[in-house]
Amino acid sequence: MSAVAQGSARVAVIGCGIGGISVALALARKGIAVHVYERASEIGEVGAGLQVGPNAGRILGELGVLDHLTVRAVLPDRAVMRAIDTGEEIIAIDLASFPDRYGSPYRVMHRGDLLSGLLKAAAETGLVAVTPGKELVDVQQDTDSATAIFADGTSATAEVVIGADGIRSRVRALLGDDSPPLASNYVIYRGTFPRTSEFENAVTLQTGPHHHVMHYPIRGGQEMNLVCSFRSERGPVGSDAWGTVEELEEAFAAANPVVRSAIGHLERSRKWVQFDREPRAGWSEGRVLLVGDAAHAAHQYFAQGACQALEDAVVLADLAAGADDLAGVFTKFEAARYPRTRAVQRGSRWWGELTHVDEQAAVARDAMLRLVGGRGLDHLDWLYGDASLPAPEVPDSQDVYEPLSGTDRVLERKP
Ligand SMILES: Cc1cc2nc3c(=O)[nH]c(=O)nc-3n(C[C@H](O)[C@H](O)[C@H](O)COP(=O)(O)OP(=O)(O)OC[C@H]3O[C@@H](n4cnc5c(N)ncnc54)[C@H](O)[C@@H]3O)c2cc1C
Repeated sequence: MSAVAQGSARVAVIGCGIGGISVALALARKGIAVHVYERASEIGEVGAGLQVGPNAGRILGELGVLDHLTVRAVLPDRAVMRAIDTGEEIIAIDLASFPDRYGSPYRVMHRGDLLSGLLKAAAETGLVAVTPGKELVDVQQDTDSATAIFADGTSATAEVVIGADGIRSRVRALLGDDSPPLASNYVIYRGTFPRTSEFENAVTLQTGPHHHVMHYPIRGGQEMNLVCSFRSERGPVGSDAWGTVEELEEAFAAANPVVRSAIGHLERSRKWVQFDREPRAGWSEGRVLLVGDAAHAAHQYFAQGACQALEDAVVLADLAAGADDLAGVFTKFEAARYPRTRAVQRGSRWWGELTHVDEQAAVARDAMLRLVGGRGLDHLDWLYGDASLPAPEVPDSQDVYEPLSGTDRVLERKP
């Protein structure tokens, strides 16, 4: 995609994940030309399913992306939490009420479908160029411009550079935080398989001590997306000995038959390390800004990482619209976004901890959730509804995460 002539873009975005292309699209819809530079030689998303809460669904509507998605996105009827051993339902949320309450349904979709919808909508603006095969290695700036320098020796100068380059962001390191992301000792396996009748049209979390599965339909309801996660204590996190396929089988040996049959469909050649970062202010310096996972990576338990990147995009674009000095809005952007993304980072960790408790703690959790669940959806309004509602104050979680250098998020199994 190259509608924008080289050098004419006001903004250089680094990274063409969901965050990078969303920012480009939102800015372009305000009339600001953007050039996106992606390290990979092809644009694509690893992994299959993505939950898109109504907070992000409203944005997809606003950005003109829904027209490219509606055939294949799925609207689940319920979000259900079950005990993984018996399959017994613990709580359920009626998602059918979401359009009335939040102005958008809860959607689940294939990541590739969302990315291609965003790319198509960006192309329609005529103001977004995307160039793959460009790995950013450095950024330089002066009073008027910022220059992205790539591994192939080329460079691109624009008014500002936006780092949407994910959890191991090079741009973040260049802004002074080169600390590695934090790894929990939970390993993730993922897979897709044809949907059969035992899988209702629901986002389902089946939980047990130190392990869980999440499954939901994607691609028009024809396929199921499956994520399995368990705690591995064997070997250093990310090593070959850690989170093996054999351990996966052991962890889910006592799961109910629906889960047992589903895990047969996992892709076993690939495992994910579960990373996040501590909330940290300071997303910009001069003409350089971080967005998406580069700024505020969270665990997947709230299913909000991509949704928050979409929120970044529209908040930034609203501030940038009509601004003579794009860098001049960066501080306001962070002030608007930081409290909310911090609550999502902290809350995601806690929800993960709570998902995996055992024995009496699990009994207490289930009782508490039934109580809260019986009181309606008020507790979700800050996240899915009005973003100006105060985010809950979530305390620091236990110190169970360790910095992990040099290990990628996705690990390929050696043959
Ligand atoms: C198991 C799992 C399940 C999840 N489920 C959900 C969910 O249901 N809903 C949800 O909202 N979120 C979910 N998330 C989180 C979500 O996937 C991420 O938050 C989101 O994809 C982040 O998007 P991003 O564009 O900021 O970063 P990324 O997707 O990491 O994209 C960064 C891009 O930058 C490129 N890049 C990196 N370095 C450079 C460089 N030096 N130069 C140029 N390009 C570079 C990369 O190649 C990549 O294309 C989940 C995450 C996981 C791990």
